[in-house]
Amino acid sequence: MDIQNLLDDIVGAVQPHVGQGNVADYIPQLGAVDAQQFGISVATREGEVYSAGDAHVDFSIQSISKVFALALVLAFDGDSIWKRVFREPSGNPFNSLVQLESEDGIPRNPFINAGAIVVTDRLLSLTGNAAHAVRDLMRQETTKDSIDTDHHVAGSELANSHRNASLAHFLASCGNLENPVDDVLDSYAKQCALAMTCEDLALATRFLASNGLGADGTLLLSPAQTKRINAVMLTCGTYDAAGEFAYRVGLPGKSGVGGGIVAVVPNKCSISVWSPGLGRSGNSVAGVAALDEFTTRTGWSVF
Ligand code: GLN
Repeated sequence: MDIQNLLDDIVGAVQPHVGQGNVADYIPQLGAVDAQQFGISVATREGEVYSAGDAHVDFSIQSISKVFALALVLAFDGDSIWKRVFREPSGNPFNSLVQLESEDGIPRNPFINAGAIVVTDRLLSLTGNAAHAVRDLMRQETTKDSIDTDHHVAGSELANSHRNASLAHFLASCGNLENPVDDVLDSYAKQCALAMTCEDLALATRFLASNGLGADGTLLLSPAQTKRINAVMLTCGTYDAAGEFAYRVGLPGKSGVGGGIVAVVPNKCSISVWSPGLGRSGNSVAGVAALDEFTTRTGWSVF
């Protein structure tokens, strides 16, 4: 398999989709990003990295950070987080409020905003600084110490965070937050506002394709924990489009409203794509098309 050739081909094949959809503008700083960009990177289990298109441009990872926050909480704290968040697909938009009241403040899964706010709350209790914990994991797995939060993006989200604030206050009213609402929202916005490239994200996600083995050869997660994170990514990682994503791509994947998506071929490679135009459920249109192309051409899906 000539992966470099394949990625170069995919850049050409997805061009009709680049710029389709809408750039997220409920976070004003994200609304200013040029939609005519597309990048893709693959990091193999053995450590080779392949990239094409705009794979070296920084973008806001947004909800992709939720995977890494969950990985850290599972690594530090084992299964206890599952008393505070379910792991079922929600079938609702990522920022939905509706299920939280009928389910007594236990979010449907850790990848919708309500669930991720609970995970960040726990990570804040465990580390004292959840955003730094996620940032440091990214730095460790990429060996790139310049990775950091874009504070303009974080500030822009915090200044427009009525929806997440309402989720967090509701969680607090149900006794499902350990820290003050404002501290949790601050950490959450800063972890979402990490700026990274496709190549960085492919490298950072590689442990999920390697049974939990980190870049330095130590286990970040057990093989069983890795399997479970991948399962939750498959069923919940792209929100109310998780069924469509499984149908088209057939891999565990996690999207963010910055237009990035990471996907995992267990025991083979991690893939990261980025293009800012989003479809109805907040997933990159060209990114999903590229992953569809990748798994269709290689046969590397979990199905
Ligand atoms: N920070 C964003 C939010 O909370 C993340 C959403 C996303 O990427 N789906 O709205």
